[in-house]
Amino acid sequence: TSAQDTILSARGLTKRFAGFTAVNGVDLDVRRGSIHALIGPNGAGKTTCFNLLTKFLQPSSGRITFNGRDITALQPAAIARLGVVRSFQISAVFAQMTVLENVRIALQRRRGDSFDFWRPQKVLAQFDDEAMRRVEEVGLADLAHAQAGDLSYGRKRALEIATTLALEPEMMLLDEPMAGMAQEDVTRISALIRRISANRTILMVEHNLSVVADLSDRITVLARGEVLAEGSYAEVSQHPKVIEAYIGG
Ligand code: ADP
Repeated sequence: TSAQDTILSARGLTKRFAGFTAVNGVDLDVRRGSIHALIGPNGAGKTTCFNLLTKFLQPSSGRITFNGRDITALQPAAIARLGVVRSFQISAVFAQMTVLENVRIALQRRRGDSFDFWRPQKVLAQFDDEAMRRVEEVGLADLAHAQAGDLSYGRKRALEIATTLALEPEMMLLDEPMAGMAQEDVTRISALIRRISANRTILMVEHNLSVVADLSDRITVLARGEVLAEGSYAEVSQHPKVIEAYIGG
């Protein structure tokens, strides 16, 4: 793998919380255009890694580069502007607004304007076409004028992804995209992730291993803050240390 094929990379990423090392010397290379999964038993350090990569947490040591540029010292907003965007939580969806309106607001946020509550329709109308394209991209065209609060859980997740896409990320970090979902929604969101990965890189933390097996090009397995194994699903799932970590807790 040449450096050009790597979009995001971490070297020696470490996070200590008062005497406890949650992430310990993690090296990670995410290939451009891939779907890369971060898995591991509870407490392995997956969420902490995500927070470090997006700088929601400051690393104790280590280095992070994106497109060859050192981003270790940047703030989360600056990292988002470079094109690394973490999916918003569903709670960030405005329940009283329609699907389309939610995406229009995200588009306006990308432009850096604050939302104008006195002239919402006037200001937002200019984003209509682009917002509709994003809504179509996530398969919600039929529900564009439905209230976001009335959507099923899986469709709220799709809307959340649409608002993230509005920021035109080169790389998306998805934190447990299938959490709490019924199988029907898992199938729908899997198809959506595969579709949006066509021209973006995706790094996801996901507990549903059949989803991981189905979607991931590459998998990094963490346990106790360290990388246990990395490779394809076939490779990591047969790794003795990985089996031990999952079975032995
Ligand atoms: P995972 O997402 O893989 O379940 P986490 O990254 O959430 O793991 O947590 C890794 C370890 O770090 C856990 O033992 C957790 O208790 C600890 N940890 C996470 N955040 C903090 C914090 N803010 N302060 C102290 N310990 C933390």
